[in-house]
Amino acid sequence: MAEVATDQLQVWVDQDLCTGDGLCVQYAPEVFEFDVDGLAYVKGTDGELRMTPGDRVDVPAHLRLEVIDSAKECPGECIHVVRDDGVEIAGPDAD
Ligand code: SF4
Repeated sequence: MAEVATDQLQVWVDQDLCTGDGLCVQYAPEVFEFDVDGLAYVKGTDGELRMTPGDRVDVPAHLRLEVIDSAKECPGECIHVVRDDGVEIAGPDAD
């Protein structure tokens, strides 16, 4: 049976490049949050920050635009929004 593609998006942040300006936290506080180090991390629906580099969380459907805009405008170019086939649709590695 053919694999059914979904349009679920995931997002991760490269903290090595984060400037800590907080744009993403303003846009989508349900998804991005500062830790005590002043850098932005993604947050799961469980409210826990994902501290392992490269860890991804699902983008809630109602926040897709906010998360995509965050990636496009992130001054550190360090927010990666990825489709479930692995293609980055917003962020520094997007076409
Ligand atoms: S917008 Fe980018 S650089 Fe700014 S806090 Fe968020 S991840 Fe860091």
